[in-house]
Amino acid sequence: MAKLRAVALAGGTHGNELTGAYVVKNAQWLFRHWQHSFSITPFLANPAAFQIVRRYVDQDLNRCFGPAAPQAPTTVEQHRAREIIDQYRTMDFIIDLHTTTSYMGNTLILSRPDPVSLQIAFAVKQRLKDLKLIIWGINTAEPPILSSLLPGFTHEIGPVAQGLLDPDIFQQTLATLETVFDCIDQYNNDQLPAIDSEQVYVHHGPDYDFPRDEEGSLTGYIHRDFLHRNFEPLKKGDPLFTRFDGTEITYDGEEGLCPLFINEAAYYEKGIAFTLVKEQRWTRTDQPGFLTSDRREGGISG
Ligand SMILES: [Zn+2]
Repeated sequence: MAKLRAVALAGGTHGNELTGAYVVKNAQWLFRHWQHSFSITPFLANPAAFQIVRRYVDQDLNRCFGPAAPQAPTTVEQHRAREIIDQYRTMDFIIDLHTTTSYMGNTLILSRPDPVSLQIAFAVKQRLKDLKLIIWGINTAEPPILSSLLPGFTHEIGPVAQGLLDPDIFQQTLATLETVFDCIDQYNNDQLPAIDSEQVYVHHGPDYDFPRDEEGSLTGYIHRDFLHRNFEPLKKGDPLFTRFDGTEITYDGEEGLCPLFINEAAYYEKGIAFTLVKEQRWTRTDQPGFLTSDRREGGISG
């Protein structure tokens, strides 16, 4: 297979996720001793949002990479998505750095599980045992995210507050990146260990909203026993929310599915308290749905 010579490294796609933003802004220092078989091109994905330390200016940039490209982008993020597509779509691989307020730990999100991305992600997971692999946007109607432009993935790590640079999260992000770069190097040198299968979590849905009143105001919060249960299979009757009146809301959905993005601050406005994923074992050649739709051709959604 073709070598990966040009690697794009995005950060600050969400302007209040400082870890990735400061990694790409300081890439010339952070990576100065590393010798690789490929070039690294760091870029700040949403400088306007980073400037005001907000997730976005007009709309979520990371939902702007769909096929229905308006000929004349109107929002700050649609313009930026067009620039990013034009500038980086001919590169070989992309890593997009994110953080979450959810207690998810260290994860890679593959929104385009092609064989090269899977092979590299499997190898990274072999070396970082606590890493979780998430497959996103295959079974659900999520708009395409930035890392779906090219082979590659999103790095998502938490918990860390929005607008905060946490030393442990920053160091873990660098350590994960170093492992990813090593694996890309091994791939380019035909030395990547062949790993036949790995545990992955495939986005399944549905999304669950917080309990709310008719005006949309919260009537409860995440149950304390649920807060740390990302990736743990759910059973009927498991507590999800505590209402302000002290009563509980419990799970009544399909058993065995696992919650993800529990209490992500940015999702309150989206009406998402958590979503559900399904644990599966994937082989290197699994690629259900990959490139069967025209969703991944890199236009801009409206
Ligand atoms: Zn993000």
